[in-house]
Parts: sequence; structure tokens; C-alpha cells
Amino acid sequence: MEHSIEELSRRKAWFLDRDGTLSLGSRKLEGADRFLERLREIGAHFFVLTNNSSKSPGGHYETLREAGFEIEPENVLVSIQPALRYLRDRGFKRLHALANEDLSAYIRTEGFELTGHSPEALLLTYDTELTYAKLEDFTRLLRTGLPWFTTHTDIVCPTQRGGMPDAGTFIEMFRMATGRVPEKSFGKPERAFIEAVLDDLGLTLADAVMVGDRLYTDIEMGRGNDLMTVLVLTGETTAESYEASETQADLVAPNLDWLMSRM
Ligand SMILES: [Mg+2]
Repeated sequence: MEHSIEELSRRKAWFLDRDGTLSLGSRKLEGADRFLERLREIGAHFFVLTNNSSKSPGGHYETLREAGFEIEPENVLVSIQPALRYLRDRGFKRLHALANEDLSAYIRTEGFELTGHSPEALLLTYDTELTYAKLEDFTRLLRTGLPWFTTHTDIVCPTQRGGMPDAGTFIEMFRMATGRVPEKSFGKPERAFIEAVLDDLGLTLADAVMVGDRLYTDIEMGRGNDLMTVLVLTGETTAESYEASETQADLVAPNLDWLMSRM
């Protein structure tokens, strides 16, 4: 589906990727706050939409504020939120999670028990405190046949030191060891991630824009539907790798300043 640049300023809900789009590690990318300011001026709703489950929603909010972004907690959406909503709706209470301390604390405050003893389901996240003992525990529980979920499937996370192994790389390791793959993922490109938010606003995909740097998550969200997608070349995707890809965005912007100059 093709959408024109003229449509941009008419779209009322903006979903912005974090890593590689608004920031890189703790560093704000050039033009990012001017861009959010413009969205405020045109009266658009905006959300930082990140698969990065190495931080809780509150953790992302705090580091975005520290980086100088003027946002509110409700502007931040993380893949762990739809994951926990799904697990709660299905009655799972006792989980074993591959997760760092910050995320584990968040999962507990959301009403789940984290345990390695007879959990009801397994949840994989971007555990930035991964150890061999954790790999062993998770592998052992996978072999018992428990349902296995993952917050997202990104292979690497863009950082100032380059792409670092993310959830998708962990999944591949467990697949090689056990032959299993997760039965469900919740982050981008799963559209349910944003459809619930749009529903609450009384809007649809035809009112929304997704801006991101990654083809197989951010841009894939718009395939075959009314969501408008904008690829920014400030993160993972280069002009060369985009040319070779079959996933196509509605617009390609070298950076957010360029995009803003055309709105
Ligand atoms: Mg990104």
C-alpha cells in the first residue's frame, strides 16, 4: 500500500521507535526533540514504541527524560506490556522469566510470581544480565514442554558500540539446544501492539504513522494495511540494505530533521 508524503501531517497518532530512531544508547539523536515538539504543535498523539525489554516502561521513561526528552510516562510503550496483558488474560500467574533485575521487578509489580519451581509459562526478554546459570535453567524448563513466550524477536540491539545480541539471538541459541521456538511474540511487527492504543483513542491504522530504523520490525508493521511507515536511515538500515530489501516503507528519510522539513 502506498501513501504520499502529503498525508503525513493529517495523521493523528505517531509511533516512534527508540533505538536508532530517537536515540542511540543514552545519546539523543540529532533532531529528535525538535521532531517531538513539532508533533505537539500539530496536535498529534505520539508514543515511543520499543521492543527493548531490557528496561521496564518506567525505566525507559526515566532514561528518556535523562536524555532530555520532554515526554510523559503514558508516551512510552514497551513490548513487555502486551506480553503481560496476554499472559494475565490467559490466567498465567507463575512465570519463569529470562530477565534482568529491572524487568523482573516490573513483572512482579504487575502481579506475577517469578519462580523456577513449577512455573506455568516461560517468558524470554532482553536479559542484559544473562549468565550461563540462567541459560541452563531456561533450557531445563524448556525441555519440560511449558508454553514459551517472548517479548520480541529482534536479533541485535543497536548501541553506540554496534549491534549487541538481543532476544532473537537468545531464541536462536535455545532453538539450537532444544529444537523449540516461542509460540508467540508481542513486540513489533505484531500490530496488536498499537491497535489496542489506537482503539483507546478512537482511531485506526489509517490515522497512524510508524517511524523506525528497522525493516523487519518497524516497517514490516505496515505491510498490507493502512498504517503509514517511515524508514529513517539513522540506525540499522542503510540506503544499500534498503535497496536490497523486499520490505518497503511509504517514505524513506535520511533523518528526523529531513522528515520534519517535509511536514
Ligand atoms: Mg530501532
